[in-house]
Amino acid sequence: MEQSNTIDFNVLKEELKQKGYKLTPQRRAIVDTIIDNEGEHLTTEEIYDEVKKNCPEIGLATVYRTIILLEELGVICKLDLNDGCSRYELVRKNEGHRHHHLVCNECKGVIEVQDDLLDELEEEVERSYGFQILDHSVKFFGICRKCQSKK
Ligand SMILES: [Zn+2]
Ligand SMILES: [Zn+2]
Repeated sequence: MEQSNTIDFNVLKEELKQKGYKLTPQRRAIVDTIIDNEGEHLTTEEIYDEVKKNCPEIGLATVYRTIILLEELGVICKLDLNDGCSRYELVRKNEGHRHHHLVCNECKGVIEVQDDLLDELEEEVERSYGFQILDHSVKFFGICRKCQSKK
């Protein structure tokens, strides 16, 4: 699963322009930070802390507004891991389905599962409920390998 950083900044620039926005250096820095931390599932505050390292003058409000904008544009999506935080990750255009997340209750670590494994379940649901499934998002809660071995 290499090569998922497929953000085309020219496309993004155009999309922003259509909404009346510019790809300012600050917005660009926020997108870069999200790309650099792919797989980390950062909260807005965490993204802010990271962006500040390269962009010390940036404000939290700018980060908040940009995150909302990027979500509207479908560049990133919100992820709720039931810890009371809104986390964000890049929408991977080359991903046939959304990956799944394993959330450790002990260390709060998040592991990504790329295998789909749900084809049969989807077929069953479509058959039984006559529901046309477009996508799914799955979270598993438990204890990761590292935390198990600590016990
Ligand atoms: Zn993820
Ligand atoms: Zn753990």
